[in-house]
Amino acid sequence: MNEKERKLLAYFLDLASEEFSYHGCNDVCDSVWKDWTLEERRQFVKEYHEWNRDPEEYDENFLHLPDFAIMSFLVDKLTDIKSIRKEKLEELPQLNEHGLKSCPFCGELEWVKVVREGTNRQSCQVRCENCGCFLESNEIGSGWAWNNRKNVQNG
Ligand SMILES: [Zn+2]
Repeated sequence: MNEKERKLLAYFLDLASEEFSYHGCNDVCDSVWKDWTLEERRQFVKEYHEWNRDPEEYDENFLHLPDFAIMSFLVDKLTDIKSIRKEKLEELPQLNEHGLKSCPFCGELEWVKVVREGTNRQSCQVRCENCGCFLESNEIGSGWAWNNRKNVQNG
């Protein structure tokens, strides 16, 4: 199995884990552990609790984990797909009614406005009405430079 397939598997396993978490019963059939030694199971459950940040929950005499928890744990073992998904969510820009991103200084979203549309005779200005910062650019139209800015001039 190649890396992309592993990521695909992890993706579906992650979806399934969420789905399973809504089930009334999350018991795992004991037969899945038939090839495992007691030591291996303990190690797995211990690792799970460390991953889950509740190591105090680990009890070497209680090795049952709910199915969705095992799935979710395995997703992280397979790949770091979770952090990739998270990044993707964060990547989605939040835009206001004018199609503009929030202010990089104060975080204001609603009050970011186009002050002046850019043409070949005048510069484009996008301004945050909350903190007063603005971005002046030579773009024709408006919004692109603001939304793709790296640095913003403080006005
Ligand atoms: Zn601002």
